[in-house]
Amino acid sequence: MAQTYENYIDGEWCASETGETFDTHNPADPNEVVATVQDSSAEDAKDAVEAAAAAQEEWAAEPGATYQALLRGTAKRIDERSQELAETLCREEGKTLTEASGEVGRAIDIFYYYASHAVDYGGDRKPTTTDDQNLYTVREPMGVAGLIVPWNYPIAIPAWKMAPALATGNTVVCKLSKDAPTVFLEVTKCLAETAEEIGAPDGVVNVLTGGGEEVGQPIVEHDEVDAVSFTGSREVGDMIYQQATDNRKRIQTEMGSKNPTVVSENADIKKAVEVVGGGICSVTGQACTATERVIVHESIHDEFVEQLIDYVDSIEIGPGLDDPGMGPQVSERELESTLDYIETAQQEGATLAYGGGQPEGEEYENGYFIEPTIVTDAESDMTIMQEEVFGPFAGIASYSDYEEAVEIANDVEFGLTAGIATQDHTEANQFIGDVDFGIVKINEATSGLDLHVPFGGMNASSSETYREQGEEGMDYFTIIKTIYES
Ligand code: NAD
Repeated sequence: MAQTYENYIDGEWCASETGETFDTHNPADPNEVVATVQDSSAEDAKDAVEAAAAAQEEWAAEPGATYQALLRGTAKRIDERSQELAETLCREEGKTLTEASGEVGRAIDIFYYYASHAVDYGGDRKPTTTDDQNLYTVREPMGVAGLIVPWNYPIAIPAWKMAPALATGNTVVCKLSKDAPTVFLEVTKCLAETAEEIGAPDGVVNVLTGGGEEVGQPIVEHDEVDAVSFTGSREVGDMIYQQATDNRKRIQTEMGSKNPTVVSENADIKKAVEVVGGGICSVTGQACTATERVIVHESIHDEFVEQLIDYVDSIEIGPGLDDPGMGPQVSERELESTLDYIETAQQEGATLAYGGGQPEGEEYENGYFIEPTIVTDAESDMTIMQEEVFGPFAGIASYSDYEEAVEIANDVEFGLTAGIATQDHTEANQFIGDVDFGIVKINEATSGLDLHVPFGGMNASSSETYREQGEEGMDYFTIIKTIYES
């Protein structure tokens, strides 16, 4: 039986004032309803922001130890339920059990990480210019943080926004995506139980479900929201950025990308194949850090492509709960979008080298399954080398010298993650300086992140002023005051 979830606003679970709900489905078998959730409205968003604003002063006055208790208690509760949460994630978003368990584990680590930093983060003492002076900085919370999140890491992304915001004394309003909201609604139960246990004021954490325009936009536009942190598509991110800056709000946008990996003539080909294959297929290519463009030296092009095809051909496709090599796409919309891009690639002259459609077989008939797809003869000006494809799809281009490889790698509007496969350390070092990307991976897949280091892109991938994750993730949610005292 699918469970019905309510919004969590002002310390209470409550139905939307619209009285409307919607169902979420299993992408491996869309006939299965996973959950029924609230189709909220601007009125619900307003209630949530007002609750967060009312709780803000009291929460900001708490010591770091209180923030630590909330985050640590939440992490512990998630950990106790990690298997069940991972299974929910498989059933609602389509990740494999291995990927889902990894993501749940990541959320636990994030809550513990910021729990420990909640007590050692703050201002700095500075050298003084006179004898009788204290010169130091303090960090104060921004106030109310509006968090707008996508579906593709539906537990890790809300966690990595919410934990640093709470750890620095902010109250939060989080709007989940309409796809795959259930796992974080379960995490919200962990937050709510811990908040009650430690006596946190009502309204510190508010979480609601519903559409972007109906609920997300009113949060971004509300006068009492001081900082907005958004992850999602470029179109929405650019619009939110404009709205927020017009209203002098702090804004952080993490958006899409079109990540390249250069495979140098100095690469270990076997290792390069694993790195690129993993970057294309992990989480069914539905990551902002997925490898979408592969730029291969002409001298090893054919051998590399042959081995890459063997690699993707060995990936077993199936429902996430069976823990195959790759699960389905999240929705029919995303599947259709990938299939359209595959067709466009061929119309524009790329050569289909592997995949290209849905896998054959009765077991794949209902779900949103897709084959890993590789096209060769990809040119930089083709649509599929410029626009983000949120599926297991990559275009392979060939290059003759290093400068050409860098030119192709940089020839996009985006700039999140760039990789190079090479055993030449000098070449790798030069690549770090030459590419316009916020993250550079050397002999590692473009996807995959560590939580204690800054994360963010350049150009159209991110608003570059602030980074997420690590201590930089806390900087975003705070304001510095400089104190001179004689
Ligand atoms: P999306 O932009 O469609 O939606 C993201 C969130 O914004 C959702 O909660 C949505 O309801 C909300 N939203 C939509 N319109 C809105 C509006 N007018 N006002 C306020 N909120 C609104 O993105 P998606 O399809 O959920 O996610 C996929 C995208 O996210 C991809 O482009 C991917 O690259 C990107 N992404 C980026 C990162 C990163 O850190 N760079 C990480 C994961 C995903």
